[in-house]
Amino acid sequence: MAHQDQPTTLYIGAPDMVRLVRRKGLSACIAGIADRIERDFLRWQEFDKSARLASHSAEGVIELMPIADAAQFSFKYVNGHPCNTQRGLATVMAFGVLADVDTGAPRLLSELTLTTAIRTAATSALVARRLARPDSRCMALIGNGAQSEFQALAFRDLVGIRELRLFDTDPSASAKLAGNLAGLGLKVRVCDSIAEAVGDADIVTTVTADKTHASIITPEMIEPGMHLNAVGGDCPGKTEMHRGVLERSTVFVEYEPQSRIEGDVQQMPADFPVTEFWQVLAGLHPGRRAAAEVTMFDSVGFALEDFSALGFMRDAAEELGIGEFIQLVPQTADPKNLFGLLRTHSLEVARQALVTA
Ligand code: NAD
Repeated sequence: MAHQDQPTTLYIGAPDMVRLVRRKGLSACIAGIADRIERDFLRWQEFDKSARLASHSAEGVIELMPIADAAQFSFKYVNGHPCNTQRGLATVMAFGVLADVDTGAPRLLSELTLTTAIRTAATSALVARRLARPDSRCMALIGNGAQSEFQALAFRDLVGIRELRLFDTDPSASAKLAGNLAGLGLKVRVCDSIAEAVGDADIVTTVTADKTHASIITPEMIEPGMHLNAVGGDCPGKTEMHRGVLERSTVFVEYEPQSRIEGDVQQMPADFPVTEFWQVLAGLHPGRRAAAEVTMFDSVGFALEDFSALGFMRDAAEELGIGEFIQLVPQTADPKNLFGLLRTHSLEVARQALVTA
């Protein structure tokens, strides 16, 4: 007997995800995913968590990011190859799965490249809303590639940023970003150096891609009261902050066991103090303690953010009727008879003939 709950999987490919985000609106997606991440971070203890599994090569990294609560399991496949843009490929590409924990049936297979940019920006802004000075209006944005528009708009919507100072070693990336942000309510200035961009900023976002220990931000650039949103240092041997900047900052991370390996904090001794951000949301840590304190979000990207984003995108796809149901796993009348799927009609006729002969 066929079970009435035969698994079908909702598939959201890249073109459908673009349609979904356009119809829902990017701001609504950023806000909706930020809300889900906040709610999921507040039930931190309910999740089975682990640091992601990374496969390193000379050019980059490919990672698997699993997580589960009692009802659902998710994983993301994601790469990070800073030289990819020279080959016409994105630095970061991703897809992911949501599955039922009680049966293991995969329920959603989704693009996550666009979604990663949205969830990363949503996480950064969610954190900055708690850690940056409430009167923050000006942000330096260092690294103006694929993630940058999403960061800019999330900080406009959720943090109240009104002015941006841009810098990228590739001037065409800054020109692209400035062009894409035109008319979107942000005063934008392209700068000639990192120091110029950081000069009068309340918040500094670094989202560069280079497989090296870079010193994008150095201690003399730091002003009292700054919030640093360090997004690009997310892999062993790939950092953005001079270690003196970490020494001057109160550092917040997503999931400490992963951040110690991958974050800017990898440069520091094992007992260097960090706080997991969920503790701030839960009221277990005050977050920023004084207007002059320098706070840093050492972001690497954690599986829980993708779990939250996958749930948001699934619900939005169902609401808008976007995506298609596919048979990712075979459906059999008798689940013990997998082999039966391979029987062709003619083989079956021949077998029946033999049986009745
Ligand atoms: P991208 O390649 O599209 O853009 C990166 C930009 O950084 C490029 O324009 C490049 O010219 C610029 N850059 C490189 N070195 C620089 C330097 N020294 N100073 C200024 N600019 C410099 O990549 P992307 O998709 O925008 O991702 C950016 C980074 O963010 C990557 O390192 C990626 O791994 C990381 N990332 C982190 C998370 C997270 O959750 N923390 C999520 C997504 C991406």
